[in-house]
Amino acid sequence: MSPTPDAVPSPAGWERLLFPADYDTDARIGYYGPYGGSFVPEILHSTLEELVAVFDEARRDPTLWSQFVGVMNTYSCRPTPVTHLQRLSDRLGGAQIYLKREDLNHTGAHKINNVIGQGLLVQRMGKKRVIAETGAGQHGVATATMAARFGLECTIYMGAVDVERQRPNVFWMEQLGATVIPVEDGSATLKDAINECLRDWAFSMQDTHYALGTACGPHPFPQIVAWFQRLIGEEARRQMAQTVGLPDRVFACVGGGSNAMGMFLGFLDDEVELVGVEAGGEGLDTGRHAARLVGNDARPGIAQGYKTYFLQDEEGQMRHTHSVSAGLDYIGVSPILAHLGDEGRVRFEAATDEEVIAALRLLMETEGIIGALESTHAVAGAIREAPQMSPDSRILINLSGRGDKDIFTIADALGDEKWRSFLQRRGQEG
Ligand SMILES: *Cc1c(COP(=O)(O)O)cnc(C)c1O
Repeated sequence: MSPTPDAVPSPAGWERLLFPADYDTDARIGYYGPYGGSFVPEILHSTLEELVAVFDEARRDPTLWSQFVGVMNTYSCRPTPVTHLQRLSDRLGGAQIYLKREDLNHTGAHKINNVIGQGLLVQRMGKKRVIAETGAGQHGVATATMAARFGLECTIYMGAVDVERQRPNVFWMEQLGATVIPVEDGSATLKDAINECLRDWAFSMQDTHYALGTACGPHPFPQIVAWFQRLIGEEARRQMAQTVGLPDRVFACVGGGSNAMGMFLGFLDDEVELVGVEAGGEGLDTGRHAARLVGNDARPGIAQGYKTYFLQDEEGQMRHTHSVSAGLDYIGVSPILAHLGDEGRVRFEAATDEEVIAALRLLMETEGIIGALESTHAVAGAIREAPQMSPDSRILINLSGRGDKDIFTIADALGDEKWRSFLQRRGQEG
């Protein structure tokens, strides 16, 4: 049957999710179920409206997506491969396990997808400067990389405590031409850097774009970040479909939620189970974790410009989070994922620090792949479930990044004494 000339293809699941039919008229623009929205000081309203307008125009222009894919293919090794883990699958004796290799991206993780995408929007807006906040420094390095590549001025806000903890990343951001501003306020960590970054933006929005790093924050950031990151799921679905067939279950780790959203958006219309793995830290009952969706310490609330599940105490004060992986150590989570969780479309699990270190070791020993600690949460989730699945079923894991950056944490967690004394001689700390 050939399509009639005026036939409009029905929108894919990800389109219906990010741009519902009443999107343009809906007063609740930027909501996913009860989550999302935009709760920012009035001074930022016009900037966010401008960004909404620019993105709405840009995403309808098919040249933007092909330009984006072109840059990613020639600059960041895309399409990243899918690797069958034969030895790990045999060892576990259950499902066949496949990895989507986001670790092979330029700068070592999926974060580059989003920043390059936003860089293209900056060019469209004709702005000359980008700002960003970063906790562990990975998003800062990715943003500084993009700024250098596109010839933009770049300022990175980082809590003073994090600057001390993440010296190598600060070094590279500066070498890449960024100005790194240590924030001394409050606990001098990520949330204080976010506040300072918003303050900068309120006064600089004329020529400056705030490149937010994950699928969180006020509308339209969750939408924009998920839209660019969907390249992961789109590629992975095609790669699986053209070779072995679609996976039965897909795993991704969940910090702010951008790599998980990017992967899951590719499979929304399929009979594929989607599993998000949060940071279980020292265990869900210890209070020392960052599990917002599986833990019972998180409640919906409004902070940092949007509504979602936040880890908070009885009085609604934000709680401290803990995870062996800095990138999952965050109190909020994507409003889109919160909604998909409520709907039952995504199942959430948590992996503890201990399980993650065991999974990291197993993946290194059986496959010669060093995953980032963040990504290894997804691997740990899959390792737990694979043995119960039949050998002709398939698991796909998003390996969001590589583990080189985690060398000190991993050496410490593995209790490697030779390493520790080496570091002490060098006068460094992990
Ligand atoms: C930053 C980071 C994450 C967490 O961010 P999401 O937005 O949840 O994807 C996960 N994996 C790696 C490798 C990271 O660098």
